[in-house]
Amino acid sequence: MNVAIVGAAGRMGGRLIHAVVEAEGLTLTAAVERPGHPQIGMDAGLVAGAGDLGVKIGDDLARGMAAADVLIDFTFPEVTLANADICARLGKQMVIGSTGFTPEQREKLAGFARRIPIVFAPNMSVGVNVCFKILKDIAKTLGDGFDIEIVELHHNKKKDSPSGTAVRMGEIVADALGRDYNQVANYHREGMCGERSKEEIGMQTVRGGDIVGEHTVYFIGMGERIELTHRAISRDMFARGAVRAASWLAGKPAGLYDMQNVLGFK
Ligand code: NAD
Repeated sequence: MNVAIVGAAGRMGGRLIHAVVEAEGLTLTAAVERPGHPQIGMDAGLVAGAGDLGVKIGDDLARGMAAADVLIDFTFPEVTLANADICARLGKQMVIGSTGFTPEQREKLAGFARRIPIVFAPNMSVGVNVCFKILKDIAKTLGDGFDIEIVELHHNKKKDSPSGTAVRMGEIVADALGRDYNQVANYHREGMCGERSKEEIGMQTVRGGDIVGEHTVYFIGMGERIELTHRAISRDMFARGAVRAASWLAGKPAGLYDMQNVLGFK
């Protein structure tokens, strides 16, 4: 498969280039950045520290997609939606790792997924996706007797909050308990805010330094507590997950998929 990467000079872009180079059956054919980016025209492999790949970073996605089968996009929602429009027009597949989509932006993405196959996951790590799976079972088994709080930690450059992964964890737990995440998520406690309600799911964020990403879901009962924690040590496992998703997409019909599909959990 021929792969294009957008956001190629970004933190994830660099790791994605390494992961594509290491993957069997995938070839990097295009690397795209925002117009005006200082590394436009430089070799994408050299920028990523993966050696000279003979692929120059460009700023025209439609042109870059001409020879590509699939686009891996770890940028930002508004950029990703514009890219999805291009991929849908050209009939190309997409793997989307960008986070921070509003419900309206997610709907727009679902519209593009009616025309092309898209894997869209706020967290491409295999470990996190196993957590997603078991969280549902834990929540269903414990029922309403445990208070649920989610705490996530990320580096000080992260723009969206709480993380897409934390929101997904909240949605999974809320669904399992028959609650509407948007109604029960509590992002803020300050002052005399009263006792905790039974239904709410507390969503807390910590930002600092170079933390790649940590998520803990607390199930807090009377006299006991379960803490399910995932710690990301490097960005490489997100990149490897995205590359696995790109390979998985070969021959898939149009649709909106996630890593649970890629890993065969659904
Ligand atoms: P980053 O800022 O380091 O990289 C983003 C890159 O996108 C930058 O190089 C930027 O120049 C580029 N960009 C911006 N506008 C563009 C445009 N119009 N066209 C082409 N390129 C453009 O950010 P990052 O840490 O690499 O994270 C990127 C996204 O990936 C964020 O939304 C982050 O939350 C998400 N992320 C997802 C996962 C996952 O597993 N799904 C893991 C890590 C990060």
